[in-house]
Amino acid sequence: MLYTESKEKSAELLRAVLALMNQHSAAFNPVTYAVCYEYVAGINGRLNQAFDHFTRTEARLGDNTMVRLYREHIAGIDDKTMERISGDMQRVMSGMSESAARTGSDAGDFTQHLAGLSKALQSSDTERLGLHLGQALQQTEAMRNSAAALQAQVAASQREIEQLRTDLQRAREDVFVDALTRVLNRKGLDHKMGQLLRTPPNTGTQHALVMLDIDHFMAINDGHGHLMGDRVLSALGELLRLSVGEAGSTVARYGGEEFAILLPHATPALAQEVAERVRLRTKALKIRHKQTNEVVLTLTLSAGVATQQPGEDATAWIARADKALYRAKESGRDRVSLAA
Ligand code: GH3
Ligand code: MG
Ligand code: MG
Repeated sequence: MLYTESKEKSAELLRAVLALMNQHSAAFNPVTYAVCYEYVAGINGRLNQAFDHFTRTEARLGDNTMVRLYREHIAGIDDKTMERISGDMQRVMSGMSESAARTGSDAGDFTQHLAGLSKALQSSDTERLGLHLGQALQQTEAMRNSAAALQAQVAASQREIEQLRTDLQRAREDVFVDALTRVLNRKGLDHKMGQLLRTPPNTGTQHALVMLDIDHFMAINDGHGHLMGDRVLSALGELLRLSVGEAGSTVARYGGEEFAILLPHATPALAQEVAERVRLRTKALKIRHKQTNEVVLTLTLSAGVATQQPGEDATAWIARADKALYRAKESGRDRVSLAA
């Protein structure tokens, strides 16, 4: 989960976020909201640094700067989702400002009536006084109603904003998840790998990468159809999610019928053990006919294991794991090979 603040804490933040949004000239849209939310919550150090940097030269940040901060420091979402959330957000905001304006104008009328009442009191004209008192009473009632309406509107808007924030969070998470297998996609893997490469391994450990590739997957597609191929991929995704429980580990679909496992602070022996576990469970997996429950097919996979060498970048690390995978294929498939 990207945002872990409680409901109470986030409601508190909401007020601070609205105040911060008010100080800047950017539109009240989800981009501005997300930027200001993360800024106020203090959960994104780089965003705060960049935000402070911009406010040194630009007292009131505009839309372009907010979008830039969003793009550079908060993950991207596809344009369609952004457009939808943006539309919802604008509706919430305009509802709020309409209510506020209504209360404002009622308050203006009320002030005028109070002034009239005070004059009537001075002139001791009882008829006029009675008239003004009646009007003031009506006006007080109207004020109370519109203040209550504003309060209800603010509460409703707060709920809607919370819902939007959840949508935004889900959309951000979805960007990194493969829809078919429910493991991370390539983008998610790149992101995790980038983070891992910035984390030095604990003493006596190395970060490890396992590359996995289904054996003769083409034959499964050819023999049982592409839909069955998809079912196999989805079943393997589930198997991997359930089989790899090592602390901080990541499972991702690298592409096609190729998967990757990242194991932080591991050893070659641990990585090999995880790869063997997955290989054996995959070999034991039975894909059954949905109606008859009859076993339709079984499969095997090959794996290449590489622990990250000091100073090695993502490309070189993946290439070594891939080379080991290729050796596992060459030497007969259904096996794990350790990189040199
Ligand atoms: P090897 O044992 O050497 O890995 O053989 P292979 O047949 O598994 O490998 P190859 O790379 O020749 O074929 C992979 C196939 O995976 C080709 C492609 O059509 C299929 N594929 C890739 N993505 C998907 C997908 O999302 N769904 C399905 N059903 N098939 C896919
Ligand atoms: Mg294959
Ligand atoms: Mg392949």
